[in-house]
Amino acid sequence: MTRMLIVGPPGAGKGTQSKRISEELNIVAISTGDIFRENIKGETDLGKEAKKYVDAGELVPDSVTNRMVEDRLTWDDAAEGFLLDGYPRNLSQVAAFDEISSRLDVKLDVVLELTADTEELTSRLVQRAETDGRTDDNEDVIRHRLEVFQKETAPMIEEYRQRGLLQQVDGLGEIETVNARIMDALKA
Ligand code: AMP
Repeated sequence: MTRMLIVGPPGAGKGTQSKRISEELNIVAISTGDIFRENIKGETDLGKEAKKYVDAGELVPDSVTNRMVEDRLTWDDAAEGFLLDGYPRNLSQVAAFDEISSRLDVKLDVVLELTADTEELTSRLVQRAETDGRTDDNEDVIRHRLEVFQKETAPMIEEYRQRGLLQQVDGLGEIETVNARIMDALKA
């Protein structure tokens, strides 16, 4: 059983690799971005609350996000391990997640970081905007999401490095190649 996070800048391929990892390790992948997008599409209360932040490339307020993740982790499918994609996203969410983890008695095994350079990411994201039609994939919002990553998420990754949980993997390359690197890193 594995309990892990996948982190990395927007466009580094977290979503794609998450799906693969969850199949290979037989654990549920939980993407906070996907949950927000589904709720926005379904026009739920949560979706209405989150929409303006997601569309602007801002983080949804921590109180909303933390509650949503804690609820999701109590579902049966998370009892045998999980892969959290996109959460925690800043240091305050790390603190909240520490409390959630101790309440639910789920200890993290590993934090996997997919690394990639910003120029490459911007062009990947612009391409994805054309194919997926994500409303937060226009160029200004993309740039803003990368800034939010540098400012808010990079310090959170550093925190997990200091805790000795961080494994870094080069996210550039073919899906298969990156997947193989990830599987090697997880064995280590
Ligand atoms: P993602 O699909 O992970 O790139 O997330 C898309 C958007 O969902 C982000 O730009 C945020 O607006 C929101 N979001 C996803 N995860 C979080 C989180 N942990 N905290 C706050 N907002 C989030």
